[in-house]
Amino acid sequence: MTMHQRGHLLDGKTLSETIQGEIAQQVTELKKKGHRAPHLAAVLVGSDGASETYVSHKVKACERVGFESTLVRLPDTIVEQELMDVIDELNNDDNIDGFIVQLPLPKHIRVDKVLERIKPSKDVDGFHPINTGRMVANLPAYKPATPDGIVEMINRFNIPTQGCHVVVIGRSLIVGTPISLLLSRDGYPGDATVTLCHRYTKDLASYTRRADILIVAVGIPGFITADMVKEGATVIDVGITRVADESKKSGFSLKGDVAFEEVAPKAAFITPVPGGVGPMTIASLLKNTLLAAKGAVYGK
Ligand code: NAD
Repeated sequence: MTMHQRGHLLDGKTLSETIQGEIAQQVTELKKKGHRAPHLAAVLVGSDGASETYVSHKVKACERVGFESTLVRLPDTIVEQELMDVIDELNNDDNIDGFIVQLPLPKHIRVDKVLERIKPSKDVDGFHPINTGRMVANLPAYKPATPDGIVEMINRFNIPTQGCHVVVIGRSLIVGTPISLLLSRDGYPGDATVTLCHRYTKDLASYTRRADILIVAVGIPGFITADMVKEGATVIDVGITRVADESKKSGFSLKGDVAFEEVAPKAAFITPVPGGVGPMTIASLLKNTLLAAKGAVYGK
């Protein structure tokens, strides 16, 4: 951050490391009591670059906190039934506490069918309709990792939410819709008035300018400009897009949905990309896996 920037940085990377330290401690205690390490499996279909990166971050995070991890790699030519068989195996493997199927999947595979096949008690991504339903009903559930990570961030940075106007842009089932729900419900972090905007919202800026907390999950780099943000707002940028960048060894850099340089001076708090919501997502996935290992959501 340069001096002229007013936005207090919501450093998700450091906070995620703190949470991972707390999880590691709990793993040590579990092991002392004679339990085996929590075990997360990830299924990766095909070799999409971004998916490879996300999965490798998740596997490395498991190592850091003392979890076991298993990566199941499958070719993108796999047929739906074969993938279902792999899921059944993981469902029935007592050595695996929870698993995820990294999205997106190849077009010939029906993602809804796949997600519904995962046993809800092992669905640590929280994408199964049973977990969605339980979350809506305020019952114990695995909450989807990205919205859960955002809520945790708001909580740990003590950002007030009661009576605030939260504007969410993007209504995906993995980010926009659940975060809207979580921040509108009773108690902290919640009790907010939430407006959910999407591609058919007319005059989007008239909503964003009235946001005390603006959460952006669209996937268009630099979509939110300074003129769309209220002075003193909290801005949470979920977007991650790979943009060609010759100065980087990888050939690309990661861009958020918010034009950071111009928005930061106006914002009271702002998340960077990378290093904001992304690492919080990982922390929440680990948290869900620990809950699974303890049987804290569905019992043992
Ligand atoms: P998505 O890609 O499924 O959908 C995009 C949403 O944006 C839709 O709901 C659409 O209605 C809305 N939208 C599109 N154009 C718009 C416009 N012009 N005005 C208003 N709304 C518009 O959403 P997603 O899967 O939630 O992903 C969004 C972004 O978040 C992507 O960049 C993705 O990579 C990123 N993401 C990041 C994390 C993380 O851990 N940080 C996790 C999940 C997704």
